[in-house]
Amino acid sequence: MNQIEIKKLSSDKPLIEDLIKLKPCSWFNPNTTSVEVALPYVGLDQTDISKASERLTRFAPYLALAFPETSATKGIIESPLVEIKQMKKALEIKFAITIPGQLYLKKDSHLPISGSIKARGGIYEVLTHAEKLAIENGLLSEDDDYSQLFSEKFKQFFSQYSIAVGSTGNLGLSIGIMSAKLGFKVSVHMSADAREWKKQKLREHGVNVVEYEQDYGVAVEQGRKAAQSDPTCFFIDDENSTTLFLGYSVAGERLKHQFEEQGIKVDKDHPLFVYLPCGVGGGPGGVAFGLKMAFGDNVHCIFAEPTHSPCMFLGVYTGLHDKISVQEIGIDNITAADGLAVGRPSGFVGRAMERLLAGYYTLSDQDMYDLLVLLDKTENIQLEPSALAGMQGPVIVTNNSEYLQRMQFTPQQLQNATHLVWATGGGMVPKEEMQKYLKLGRI
Ligand SMILES: *Cc1c(COP(=O)(O)O)cnc(C)c1O
Repeated sequence: MNQIEIKKLSSDKPLIEDLIKLKPCSWFNPNTTSVEVALPYVGLDQTDISKASERLTRFAPYLALAFPETSATKGIIESPLVEIKQMKKALEIKFAITIPGQLYLKKDSHLPISGSIKARGGIYEVLTHAEKLAIENGLLSEDDDYSQLFSEKFKQFFSQYSIAVGSTGNLGLSIGIMSAKLGFKVSVHMSADAREWKKQKLREHGVNVVEYEQDYGVAVEQGRKAAQSDPTCFFIDDENSTTLFLGYSVAGERLKHQFEEQGIKVDKDHPLFVYLPCGVGGGPGGVAFGLKMAFGDNVHCIFAEPTHSPCMFLGVYTGLHDKISVQEIGIDNITAADGLAVGRPSGFVGRAMERLLAGYYTLSDQDMYDLLVLLDKTENIQLEPSALAGMQGPVIVTNNSEYLQRMQFTPQQLQNATHLVWATGGGMVPKEEMQKYLKLGRI
């Protein structure tokens, strides 16, 4: 895009200028509508989520054996939900506001196996592929006990096939660890921003790590190309995969269950606001889809992105989706937030979910570091920077009177609200790395 084209685009889209200037900003989409109206545009429904959930149940006995850390939950990969009262107080002081309602943290950062939200979608897609191969080759049927997959026979079988993926780190960890455990040959194509410790961990698991000096988009393209030349290779497409998306979406019914257990109400008089860090969009998009199917119009999903990589904000705001990248408007796509350094959003997720997402906002890397330190100090919970992107959400919603009025929330309803920050990663960050993060935050 040249300067004239950018000028033209921003003439009726004033926030483009703020995005280009890397000024933290937010946009609450006036075209957001009800689940009933929006669902046909998604092209997936509750039946698809239920099938994904059933598949994960079929694999649970295998996972419990293959990954002993999941044996306590009988092979179900799920994360804790915790209230963070001290952090809420600290946010109120830091931002000089009162946040009505309660503040919770969904600790996908501490999901077993790979310590990030990618343990939902990434692992699910590998399992789906493994099941398909085993069934097609007459080795397995859906009624079997899947713990038999934890055997030399199945490892031998899967070793004839390979899996490839492009990643900024966490997706690679999930897919690499899961694929290698089943016996697949697996290649992870890593972008320049991927952390050294993530690459090392993958190599320890026997994963072929291919490094690039360019960003995520290039790593994905190269991964796709390498896979095309090999008919036994399955490429996991983070930008377009409905399978990944459905793996994430199971989180909705799981969260509903956790809320019931903890006596947290969600209905018209008890709205739920969920803040999700967004990279290419599959993780937060899939989770938001699951949340919408579980809680209907009573849940309001807000995406958070770094000021240097606001790809989903830009795509939905302009209506151009994957036809525009942040680089095209002069933004560098360089951020310390792992998983969020994505310049071009998933066109599938943007188009499927735009009517169901309440809003989008950006924050700086320094904001994420500051919130990281604040959460460490107040709750003794350590996350990676990207996982803090959602933490400013309750402040942004509370300060947005235009949005709150448009939604016709009463003061009582806001008082009854639950704010849920989706912590997407950090559970596996080595101690020395975490110390470096903690030094970068100001309090
Ligand atoms: C991948 C990732 C996200 C975002 O998921 P996308 O599917 O890329 O939008 C957020 N946080 C962390 C820590 C991640 O690894």
